[in-house]
Amino acid sequence: MLKGSAISPGIALGRVFCLKHFRLENVAVRTILENEVENEVQRFQQAIQLAHDEINQLSQLPQIKSSLEIANIFHAHLTLVDDPDLKKEVLKRIRERRQNVEAIVSSVTRDYSEFFKSLPDPQFQAKAIDIMDIGRRILSNCQDENASPLKIKPDEKVILVAEDITAADIAGFDTSMILGIATEEGTTSSHAAILARSLGIPALVQVKNLLQSVVHGKTIILDGNSGFIISNPTTAQINECKVYFEAFLAEKIDLKNIAPSLSITKDGVRIKLLANIGQIQDVDSVLTNQADGIGLYRTEFTYLIRKRFPTEKELINLYWSVIERMGDKEIVLRTIDLGGDKLSQLLKHPLEKNPELGWRAIRLSLDRPDVFRTQLRAIIKVSSKAKPGQVKVLIPMISGISELRKTKEFLGKLIEELKNEKVEIPEQIKFGVMIEVPSSALLADKIAQQVDFLSIGSNDLVQYTLAVDRTNSKVSHLYQPLNPAVLKLISLVVQSGEKHLKTVSICGELAGDPFFTILLLGLGLKELSMNSICIPKIKNIIRKISISEIKDEISKLLEMSTSEEVEEALWQLNKKYQIASKNV
Ligand code: PEP
Ligand code: MG
Repeated sequence: MLKGSAISPGIALGRVFCLKHFRLENVAVRTILENEVENEVQRFQQAIQLAHDEINQLSQLPQIKSSLEIANIFHAHLTLVDDPDLKKEVLKRIRERRQNVEAIVSSVTRDYSEFFKSLPDPQFQAKAIDIMDIGRRILSNCQDENASPLKIKPDEKVILVAEDITAADIAGFDTSMILGIATEEGTTSSHAAILARSLGIPALVQVKNLLQSVVHGKTIILDGNSGFIISNPTTAQINECKVYFEAFLAEKIDLKNIAPSLSITKDGVRIKLLANIGQIQDVDSVLTNQADGIGLYRTEFTYLIRKRFPTEKELINLYWSVIERMGDKEIVLRTIDLGGDKLSQLLKHPLEKNPELGWRAIRLSLDRPDVFRTQLRAIIKVSSKAKPGQVKVLIPMISGISELRKTKEFLGKLIEELKNEKVEIPEQIKFGVMIEVPSSALLADKIAQQVDFLSIGSNDLVQYTLAVDRTNSKVSHLYQPLNPAVLKLISLVVQSGEKHLKTVSICGELAGDPFFTILLLGLGLKELSMNSICIPKIKNIIRKISISEIKDEISKLLEMSTSEEVEEALWQLNKKYQIASKNV
């Protein structure tokens, strides 16, 4: 039995397909004659053009387009493969060093990657992975069709096994042929992990001795819930696995049937289930999963994929197309949350030592009134076209009252400006802020008096409360949403909302994780916003919970000392009420 870290739940039974990447350092170096130089140059140009076309094609796949983070990787890959400096450097070295194209691509890729790795900024360090990925793709395109590992495709459904895997590798396969994924390296928060989760493929990373313990073509069982791999399973183990699949399929059918039913607890409390989206394409899934509305529209995506700032008219058209498709359901438009790990080429982001603590979200918007003004004018204009109260505006990362006042003043001035332009203004634009910094959670009582609603961004609230960079795998074990400090802050925000009769929702990843549903309901949350594919499962759980029955038990968790204690107690409660099994 092999053990790894489970990153995407589910169980897979199938044959191993070993995906062997080119090892850039193992590429053969061949000296070429002067009259072969042009041939190598041509091979490089063909390989790079092919790489460009492949990435372009991959980026159009629905599984890529439906995730903002994944779409961003492919966008970054395309920028790299089109980078004129990279091309120039390869051509220069082919001519100067007189070596085959594979050797030159390998050396340029490694040099670039080492350079980025040596920079102090983690965002640039992460770029090293993208560069290696691109290098391997170009190399693979220099090979003849059948010799290239990236081009070999399995002819039956398989479990992919590799030293490491990238989102591009996964997307390059027909994903319906992938039963599971296991790698020797990799991290929980990698883009490959996010893609595996969003595709519902069970997956493990960091499986020690994986490549030397499993054999290409042999059957294994991969357990994405507990993190185990059983190589050469016995008949009894295979049968057990089949029983699991039947239960899993039955649950899938149940969840489909549950979509039209109300999201209501056993004791009659209506819980709103909203969707998080990043772009218009996400609305299909919002409608299929019958969300009550959009609780978080991450509008920054538009600024990440464009080469110039969107105009007010373009934003109005974009927002309106989302609103129109949602009928009369509510839409919460969050103003741009750029900076941190979301850098737009349209803004001059300074190189910051601590980008997550720096020029990000509302701080950046207030510093760039031109950009903020265009977006807010578009939001006000679409609100006046929509049903009253249907569109709400949400401000990310408010960290204090002065910042909140400044933002409200800015909005107020814009409303006046539009009135002077004789633009019809809705009677009231619902205005809310994200609570994702401990300072604003502690001041929630005051903030709640000045806004219409609060939305807890638990992804950042955990990061800032525990001082753990949410993108840094070195400290990912310290990123503990169940730390009692986090729970106390969430509870405080909910109570402040209740006191001032303001709605409080939660829109971080916790909201879509079944293991946390009982906790969030017990803390008093009545609006959860999540990736829409999670909605049926969460609704199913909500319908099994009676808030009056669990409230006292949940409040006891707030008095615990460590996340481990809370996790164990929550596990017991989930078991007691037969709600959810432990998640990843
Ligand atoms: C959050 O921080 O929980 C959140 C929803 O915002 P984002 O993940 O976009 O930072
Ligand atoms: Mg956030």
